[in-house]
Amino acid sequence: MTAKSVLITGAASGIGKACAQRMAREGFGVVVADVNLPAAEALANELTGAGFSAIAVRMDVSNEGEVEAGFDKMLDTYGSCDLVMSNAGVQIVHSFDEYPFEDWKKMMAIHADGAFLVARAAFRRMKAGGRGGRIVFTGSVQSFVGSKLKEPYNFAKHGVAGLAKSIAREGAEYGIYTYTICPSFIKTPLVEKQILEQAAALGITEEEVVRNIMLRDTVDGAFTTVEDVADMLVFLSNDRGALTGQSLRLTHGWAMM
Ligand code: NAD
Repeated sequence: MTAKSVLITGAASGIGKACAQRMAREGFGVVVADVNLPAAEALANELTGAGFSAIAVRMDVSNEGEVEAGFDKMLDTYGSCDLVMSNAGVQIVHSFDEYPFEDWKKMMAIHADGAFLVARAAFRRMKAGGRGGRIVFTGSVQSFVGSKLKEPYNFAKHGVAGLAKSIAREGAEYGIYTYTICPSFIKTPLVEKQILEQAAALGITEEEVVRNIMLRDTVDGAFTTVEDVADMLVFLSNDRGALTGQSLRLTHGWAMM
């Protein structure tokens, strides 16, 4: 048994992977949850091979049964559910008039249903456990602004920030705190793919996508990093409620309060 446990969804790649690696170093028992089980297992093996505590679970966040089973495995393994990061996500871009309904529904299943199912599973176990807990959503700068080609993503990321605020109100009496970490662009596989797709959709170069779209509204033309998010997760894992319900903007000045 470890002193503290964390479950991270979408933990096999990008932001989630960096956060899983960091929380392992911070002494957490880590549940690497991802729809891509081989990649989740590879990360869990890497962590246990380095002397840390980690398990992998297959979890499609839009599947209620898989979400509940993953949390049961967390309790069986670590005996607690202290910290949860609802982070799994995909991006599908199309011009709005051409956006297929099927892709809209896919986006809602992963981002909206997924956030609900993961947060509810966490809340249930934190409440029953009687020792509180923290639920962290990965929002985005897109929780505050609008962007071409991303209507469903913007809709869902705005929604996640609202979900965190309401859970903060209901969770307070049980010591359950919620937060939304809202990064601007980070060079992960999700964004590498987007650079190519946006260049094709808008008929511009990849370099123009980065400079004129992704980083245009930052104060310094810089990407946020996975380490920035991991640092914030560590910080929030020690918050005693002062920040509950808040959205933390890691945006290089884009969408300042
Ligand atoms: P990524 O593509 O590197 O990783 C996403 C992970 O989620 C993958 O391992 C994938 O297998 C997993 N996943 C996809 N669908 C899933 C599902 N249904 N159930 C469980 N796991 C699933 O992406 P990333 O950039 O690390 O993004 C992680 C989160 O951060 C997403 O919510 C994304 O919207 C958000 N975000 C990313 C950026 C950025 O610039 N990269 C900025 C702000 C917010």
